[in-house]
Amino acid sequence: MTTKDITICGAGLVGSLLAIYLGKKGHRVNVFERRPDMRQTTIDGGRSINLALSNRGWKALEAVGVGENIRKMSIPMYRRVIHDREGKLNYQPYGKEGEAIYSVSRGGLNARLMQLAEETGNVNIHFDERCVDVDLDQAVAVFENYLSGENTRSQADLVFGADGAFSAVRAVMQKTDRFNYSQQYIEHGYKELSIPPDADGRHRMEREALHIWPRGNYMLIALPNPDGSFTCTLFFPFEGDPSFSTLDSVAKARVFFEQDFADALKLMPDFDQEWEGNPTSSLVIIRCYPWVSESGRVAILGDASHAIVPFYGQGMNSGFEDCTVLNDLIAEHGDNWGLLLDEFQKNRKPDADAIADLAMRNFVEMRDLTGDPAFLLQKKIEKRFYEKYPDRWIPLYSMVTFTHIRYSVALREGKRQDAIMERVMALPGIEGKWDSDEVEQLMLKLTENRVTA
Ligand SMILES: Cc1cc2nc3c(=O)[nH]c(=O)nc-3n(C[C@H](O)[C@H](O)[C@H](O)COP(=O)(O)OP(=O)(O)OC[C@H]3O[C@@H](n4cnc5c(N)ncnc54)[C@H](O)[C@@H]3O)c2cc1C
Repeated sequence: MTTKDITICGAGLVGSLLAIYLGKKGHRVNVFERRPDMRQTTIDGGRSINLALSNRGWKALEAVGVGENIRKMSIPMYRRVIHDREGKLNYQPYGKEGEAIYSVSRGGLNARLMQLAEETGNVNIHFDERCVDVDLDQAVAVFENYLSGENTRSQADLVFGADGAFSAVRAVMQKTDRFNYSQQYIEHGYKELSIPPDADGRHRMEREALHIWPRGNYMLIALPNPDGSFTCTLFFPFEGDPSFSTLDSVAKARVFFEQDFADALKLMPDFDQEWEGNPTSSLVIIRCYPWVSESGRVAILGDASHAIVPFYGQGMNSGFEDCTVLNDLIAEHGDNWGLLLDEFQKNRKPDADAIADLAMRNFVEMRDLTGDPAFLLQKKIEKRFYEKYPDRWIPLYSMVTFTHIRYSVALREGKRQDAIMERVMALPGIEGKWDSDEVEQLMLKLTENRVTA
């Protein structure tokens, strides 16, 4: 394989991981990041403070030998803890015994990936450099330095845009003929709040769990941090009643939390400052195609090509899976970048579309259904059948989170399973016989000739 000069725009999660992959293969990689070096500053890293990392993400990290290292700085979350309005708790395991999703610090993970990229010896990261233009035919990217205002032209063999949902590289591609693009802001936004550790530095709620306060059209969630705190996120409509627009003062927000999230509010001593001081951020879904320029020399990946809502905890995971897929194609096609990038976009686009749909669907499940008895019963039936017949049934959540089954296949299977569960749940008296032979036989019949991937 001949070594290439490669420019990556963006040293976020995906750009830094891609740099490790390419640097390890001996390519000369220059990464340009518009922010200062987060390892030397304490500036806010931007979006959510922590993220849920699951099997797709782990696979990509393990392939470059950093899985163990990152695992040490993460907290496994084995189950959902559902908080009702009265503060009563309900528990839902995420997967089989021992299966968990992991809470990791966005900043900590990003900093570690940057360091590992530099340690390959082939990656240089340039900070305070904002991409302002790309020549798609010549693979030249232009960066403006924040401090000096000077422009740098980076000539390479290939350019990757890993510069997030508002990608500058994509913006240039958008102006080319037959480029499809859609951007959708959902009606909900989010605000981060926090639950600090207790006086002994310990977590004030169950540590190895993701906490959810589902309330129909909105919800609060909390993920644990290693320092004993929880980061909470309120997903809430911008308009309507209740909404961010009706909670337009701390006093109103406090009254609302006292009604809806009383047990959480008691653990939030900084609620007033955080409600007022923390931004209310929006959530956007971005779909586009193609992901590779006509010349075959410029490509986008991660949020730059498929930004999704965070409700399946798959945005970063899917961006990391982009790196896995790309790496497999490099192994298969070697130097033939034109061919492999084209295969990458064709192969990956249906999966990106599927996880975008799945993520919206999971919002409804998290905010609405996790408190619904019929939904909980359905999950119990599915779990029982899965444990007995894993070759016939893998619950959708498990397919997405704990396997490497393509997202597009998981979505299709999920729809098929929905239709089956509709029939099962319609059985008269299902509540009393959910674990009966009758239910099991019906499910066996309905899943005949079905073997999961
Ligand atoms: C509230 C919230 C919670 C989330 N929770 C999860 C979760 O639990 N699990 C999960 O898997 N995903 C989660 N996500 C999604 C996840 O954050 C993203 O999918 C992930 O960060 C995408 O990585 P990326 O590297 O593609 O983009 P980004 O992380 O956005 O990184 C892009 C980088 O490019 C830089 N950049 C931007 N423009 C330029 C430019 N013009 N020139 C140079 N550099 C530039 C940026 O500064 C940044 O460093 C969540 C998202 C949100 C909003």
